[in-house]
Amino acid sequence: MPPTDSAIELGDALRRAVRGEVRFDRLTRQIYSTDASSYRIVPAGVVTPRDVDDVAAVMEVINRYSASTVPRGGGSSLSGQTVGPGVVVDFSRHLNRVLEINPEAGWARVEAGLVLDQLNAAAAAHGLMVGPDPASSRVATLGGMSANNSTGVHSIRYGLMIDHIQAVDAVLSDGSVVHFGPKTPAEVEALARQDTLEGRLYREIPRLLAEYRDDIHQRYPRTWRNVAGYNLNRLLAAQEAGQPFNLAPLIVGSEGTLAHIVRLQVGLVPKPAHVRLVVLHFDDLRAALERVPFLLEHNPSAVELLSGHMIRLARGHAGYRQRVNRFVEGDPHSLLIVEFSGGQPAALAAARDKLVDALGRDGYRHPIIDCATPEAVSNLWSVRKDTLGLIMSMPGDAKPLSFVDDAAVPIEELAGYALEVDQVCREAGLEVAFDAHASAGCLHITPIISLKTEQGLRQMKTISQAVMKIAIAHHGTTTGEHGEGLARSYYNEQLYGPRLHRAFRQVKSLFDPHNRMNPGKIIDAPEPWDPAVLRFYPGYQTPLQPETTWFDYSPHRDMAGLVEMCNGQGLCRNLGPGVMCPSYRATRDERHATRGRANALRAALTGDLGPDGLGSHSLYEVLDLCLECKACKRECSTGVDMAKLKYEFLAQ
Ligand SMILES: Cc1cc2nc3c(=O)[nH]c(=O)nc-3n(C[C@H](O)[C@H](O)[C@H](O)COP(=O)(O)OP(=O)(O)OC[C@H]3O[C@@H](n4cnc5c(N)ncnc54)[C@H](O)[C@@H]3O)c2cc1C
Ligand code: SF4
Repeated sequence: MPPTDSAIELGDALRRAVRGEVRFDRLTRQIYSTDASSYRIVPAGVVTPRDVDDVAAVMEVINRYSASTVPRGGGSSLSGQTVGPGVVVDFSRHLNRVLEINPEAGWARVEAGLVLDQLNAAAAAHGLMVGPDPASSRVATLGGMSANNSTGVHSIRYGLMIDHIQAVDAVLSDGSVVHFGPKTPAEVEALARQDTLEGRLYREIPRLLAEYRDDIHQRYPRTWRNVAGYNLNRLLAAQEAGQPFNLAPLIVGSEGTLAHIVRLQVGLVPKPAHVRLVVLHFDDLRAALERVPFLLEHNPSAVELLSGHMIRLARGHAGYRQRVNRFVEGDPHSLLIVEFSGGQPAALAAARDKLVDALGRDGYRHPIIDCATPEAVSNLWSVRKDTLGLIMSMPGDAKPLSFVDDAAVPIEELAGYALEVDQVCREAGLEVAFDAHASAGCLHITPIISLKTEQGLRQMKTISQAVMKIAIAHHGTTTGEHGEGLARSYYNEQLYGPRLHRAFRQVKSLFDPHNRMNPGKIIDAPEPWDPAVLRFYPGYQTPLQPETTWFDYSPHRDMAGLVEMCNGQGLCRNLGPGVMCPSYRATRDERHATRGRANALRAALTGDLGPDGLGSHSLYEVLDLCLECKACKRECSTGVDMAKLKYEFLAQ
């Protein structure tokens, strides 16, 4: 849809107010209409702010025009958090510097759009790193990680982002710039006297903590691996422990619904000097998951579940086959990967021996593979890191979907939860891929569904409702790391009950009384299966696909099939080792990343760029800078071959 008159006025006003780029053209809006999730909403426009003043100016204009914003970092969210109708504020292009690393105190101050791998590269010079380690570390920004409260494989050792964020500089919904960090009682009192939005927060949030104290104690899920809702529990726990009042934990996990994070201070942890892995093989899921509490008694730094399905999938990719065979023997149903890490190799070897002895005494008779060299460890973890991307890269209309992908339950309930979920999926006639941060009770499930059919949409609804119900019944949460977004915010009240949900609504309206910040997430969300917010839906068509093509697309059905292979994971925004994608590396512009190009091509084929389809001139702009290096074909697990698509476009 072309921009309306009011959108054009909004764009003009933003252009006058900010120094960064403001784009309201059809192409850019299509490119930013998705993230790594199954969701899609075309935003009003996109701003890439250059500094904090730009962000404040954006909010001033947004308020004047009664519009809203969608803060965005790497856009690697799996639940549709960065998908919305407002103006996307992309922090990754300009606000991406390391400001200071203080190795003695163990923290870094950074701008919100900095990518995690880049901070870790800088911190490594001091033997430090960020504790939470999402598999998307090549793409995820510190702002996005904070707003999603991200974590990863080592959460039993390092917790979640909330355990490390010490302070944030934020722009509030009224455009005011604030610093949220630890405050003394005198500072809180002085701030609370101010007749400002910030002052109101210091008056009202403590009042909410008092009013909902019992609910907070009783109604949060029993698992610590929980990123649903606002973190009132952390504020209350700090208050009860006599710690200084700090509003930063409330911004963590708020999914861009409360404030724009511009800068943040994150605690760093020592990088473990040595790591070794023990890989255990199992014949069935129950046996693997029931083994987890036993393994945790041996003080590992991680226990991960990898299903046979994932192993077979990885073996099916030429680039992974040999790497997988180095740590998998035969064709197991599941693997558990146990990690020990620390300063002394001898201590790790002793921990490994103790575990293997105990397993033997306890009747474990399957293969045990050791990964004891840095190279073997890195081989296994890098395969593990890529599994989600691999599973998401299935050709054809039926895709592994992320909508019940990360519920977490107390560890002793994990096996029961997983088996019930497995049964529900089987009853719905669905193939399902499992893996898990087993040590944290967080199970990744991606049912394989075609949302282009009515049946697929019904399956999504059935599975979504059933799995969320099972997770809650097992005292768990709807989301243990990927966030609520459009996939799970709908269940917030079911998870927390009406009173705490009301408390969250009050938090939202205190911070954002006019609903300017990422509306429809956490509070007032649509149904997760609403076709209006889905990327693919029954009736989805590509009418502008050429009838005859120059290249053969049969392995992917047709040209659109190859374009649709891009699942939005954004690996093409990688700035570290590798080649993909040189044009993004040079410009830091989403339009010049493989993902941007795939989104543009998809829009051209559906007619969302207008009637010219592949003949659209704006498409030329995004494909022109593609160097045809084919790095995306090699380095992206989806195998999207943008060079081939560019040749096709030019030939057409
Ligand atoms: C293949 C793959 C693997 C993944 N593995 C993991 C994993 O292991 N663990 C995990 O936790 N997650 C994982 N994720 C999910 C996702 O990558 C993480 O949540 C990541 O931290 C998001 O970072 P981002 O910069 O891409 O944020 P975005 O997706 O851009 O944004 C995330 C949220 O933060 C908000 N936001 C962004 N920037 C700001 C800001 N400056 N101020 C306020 N709000 C802001 C957005 O509005 C949105 O709500 C994975 C995703 C993929 C595709
Ligand atoms: S072929 Fe084009 S899109 Fe793919 S990595 Fe090279 S420059 Fe990027």
